[in-house]
Amino acid sequence: MTALHQSAAEDRGDLTRKPQRWPLLTQPTPTIAYVVVVVGLHFILIGALASHTVWRTPALLTFGALMAAGAICIEASRRLGMPAGIGRDLLSAWWLPVALLLPPVYALLIPIPMQALLQLRVRRTLLHRRALVSAAHGLAGAAASATFHLVVSDPLRGNAQWLTDLDAIIPAMIGCAVLFTLINTAIVAVAAHSSAPGCRWHEHMRNREHLVLDVVELCLGVLVTIACALTPLLILVALPPVMLLQRSLMHQQLQAAARTDAKTGLLNAAAWQREADTEIARANRTGESLALLLIDIDHFKRVNDAHGHLAGDQVLIGVAGTLVSQLREYDVIGRFGGEEFVVLLPGADILEGCRVAERLRNRVRRLSVPADDESVTVTVSVGVALFRTHGQDLLELLASADLALYRAKKSGRDRICLPATQKA
Ligand code: GH3
Ligand code: MG
Ligand code: MG
Repeated sequence: MTALHQSAAEDRGDLTRKPQRWPLLTQPTPTIAYVVVVVGLHFILIGALASHTVWRTPALLTFGALMAAGAICIEASRRLGMPAGIGRDLLSAWWLPVALLLPPVYALLIPIPMQALLQLRVRRTLLHRRALVSAAHGLAGAAASATFHLVVSDPLRGNAQWLTDLDAIIPAMIGCAVLFTLINTAIVAVAAHSSAPGCRWHEHMRNREHLVLDVVELCLGVLVTIACALTPLLILVALPPVMLLQRSLMHQQLQAAARTDAKTGLLNAAAWQREADTEIARANRTGESLALLLIDIDHFKRVNDAHGHLAGDQVLIGVAGTLVSQLREYDVIGRFGGEEFVVLLPGADILEGCRVAERLRNRVRRLSVPADDESVTVTVSVGVALFRTHGQDLLELLASADLALYRAKKSGRDRICLPATQKA
């Protein structure tokens, strides 16, 4: 289905991290314990069920055909390119039939070759992350499989006679597909939350966009399951439309990824500038006020020096999350440079701008990011500038906010300043 897509923190920072032999060991202890337990449970269940499963040829052939279809989709996504942060791959279209049609042990097994293929052929990521995603898919698939087999005890036997009662079967299939998604999401969300406890739960869970994609994946999975139950040959018919859908989905995601900063999920500098230009044009048209905040983490280099880049990255992610949680949906938030963020507040006058800046400063102060056995806290300095008063266009406004930020730094940090000499 996805590559640990739920976590806001999931795929960020691979490039900036120092190479670690066992990156899992740099995670908080609860995360390490959780990953070990979940992955361990996955393998224990495989061992336990494998010895009780009758390995029949039709099941093995169906498994092979669905795995081949998944592998073809993975190869296709490889050719499209799949940068960090791109998570949706529609692989559930092949995993769901495995879970519903075959005994649970197959659902436990299929994520292993698939994740290995993704790791080797598409994009290398941290091994413990792959192992956790694999276990989450495996355990969720096994639960869905066991549940569906209570309804249809042996779906591959008897020329799919059970399909004649589709009115009863389809709700059961959908129910099991939903169960699969819920368990998978919950397992990954707990891991993401334990490694970044500063983030709120809903940041690890699905937003509306994800939910729509989940529904698309599940519907596709149900259709492929029915086709495959009729005859595995129909997998060949299902393959081209699934690949086409995958291609258009990835194109969309690539476009979105080009706008966002992979580490924090905020807008990158270029995308922020484009959106800010639009807001300035609107403010010019409507005469509305508009404030700009330039936010820089104080002594961030010390965080890296004392706790390492990995912890530094977690702080960046935490600060970004704090900004997002404190701002309105139509405020334009971007990551400008390494530890510098920029926020455009449409409709805000200077009082409102300073009030928001002060709130952000206070919230960031309260943020605590676990690193090793201690927790890291940081402060920010904020430069505030007002459209028309401090700049007639975006560049002038940015220059003024930069000057204000410089003042805030110079006068002791952990404060907000205006471009004029007075402290806000
Ligand atoms: P000041 O209070 O004056 O802003 O001091 P500072 O240490 O925050 O500023 P300085 O510009 O000296 O250092 C910024 C540091 O941010 C240096 C750089 O290594 C670090 N940095 C930039 N991007 C990243 C990143 O993506 N991840 C991590 N971990 N560190 C980063
Ligand atoms: Mg700084
Ligand atoms: Mg800086």
